[in-house]
Amino acid sequence: MINVVLSFDIDAETLWTSRDKENKIGPVMLSQGAYGPKEGIPRILDLLNKRELSATFFITGWVIEHYRSRCEDIVSAGHEVGHHNYNHEWPWRVNADVEKEAFDREMVILKDLLGRTPSGYRAPGWEFSDVTMDLLLNSEIKYSSNFMDSDVPYRHIYKGNKTNLVELPVSWMLDDAAFFMHGLTYGPPQFNPETVLSMWKAEFDALYKEERDTCFILTMHPQIMGRPARMAMLDKLVEYIRKKEGVRFITAEALAEEYRGL
Ligand SMILES: [Zn+2]
Repeated sequence: MINVVLSFDIDAETLWTSRDKENKIGPVMLSQGAYGPKEGIPRILDLLNKRELSATFFITGWVIEHYRSRCEDIVSAGHEVGHHNYNHEWPWRVNADVEKEAFDREMVILKDLLGRTPSGYRAPGWEFSDVTMDLLLNSEIKYSSNFMDSDVPYRHIYKGNKTNLVELPVSWMLDDAAFFMHGLTYGPPQFNPETVLSMWKAEFDALYKEERDTCFILTMHPQIMGRPARMAMLDKLVEYIRKKEGVRFITAEALAEEYRGL
């Protein structure tokens, strides 16, 4: 069984404010981030609705504060929302107190949005500081989706002990930013969506042939993947995967729950 998770990280402007602190960040660069909530999210929700799929969104607290109704649209459509810190500051670039403050602030905002505790944590930039793991283990978070060492979910072993924290592993290979992210002060060439479609299909097919329980977790960003031609590509990929037997689409939370007892 391949468990397919469609995950979307909604950073909006915080993607840019957290990335390039040294340079002046102008209104145009920020507007690149705003494209996610303004255009990307509606397109993504339409696709998910059309294909009757549930997805997982990791949203920064700053975005929830500034695009509340868009976030409420996600929740009311039945999708999962997870923790992505308050303002997308990369954990290893700030001190432990700042990281904890951002973590706690985000938790309060998410509980208010969801009316419940979020289950999942995705670190901004997919990296942990020296204290991130302790923060998670001392919180109500049940799974992390950040590490890149496996094709199968697992429970973290920390300081010699097997914890209840499940890892849902990711990969730059399955991240839209690796192919499409571009900006004035950042960026490789942008790929043709058809090229990325063929790469993601090839990765899926090769995993499928192994005939074992694995996961295929796509990480996407509304401001990046939400462009029209890229969304059309995602739709093609979803339809391609859906035709296979022994595959299911599942939210990260539901998948993590199945591994908690293992
Ligand atoms: Zn992010």
